[in-house]
Amino acid sequence: MPDRVSRRATLQILIAAPVFGAALQACGKKDKPDSCTDVSGLSEGEKAARTALQYTDATPQPDKRCSGCNLYQPPVDPSQCGGCQVIKGPIHPDGYCTSWVAKV
Ligand code: SF4
Repeated sequence: MPDRVSRRATLQILIAAPVFGAALQACGKKDKPDSCTDVSGLSEGEKAARTALQYTDATPQPDKRCSGCNLYQPPVDPSQCGGCQVIKGPIHPDGYCTSWVAKV
């Protein structure tokens, strides 16, 4: 009899696990930041460089995103902004600038 209960409990866990996982994901951390436009910590020169390279949080070219750029520095926590070897300040994984270069 204990084997039957154990099997039932195992089946219940197997059925509930995906539902529980989806619920956790829905109310848990995001896989991308909302925005990476806070440049309040940058100097005027750094802001100017950002503007000169036409950085934007939302790429106008879907096949060219910061996350696919060789100069992108991904964050440890994917819900946070990343960095860039060229532009100072927060960088969105879906962003873009004119210095984009394919990841090797
Ligand atoms: Fe994004 Fe431009 Fe930096 Fe590449 S160089 S990661 S496209 S901001």
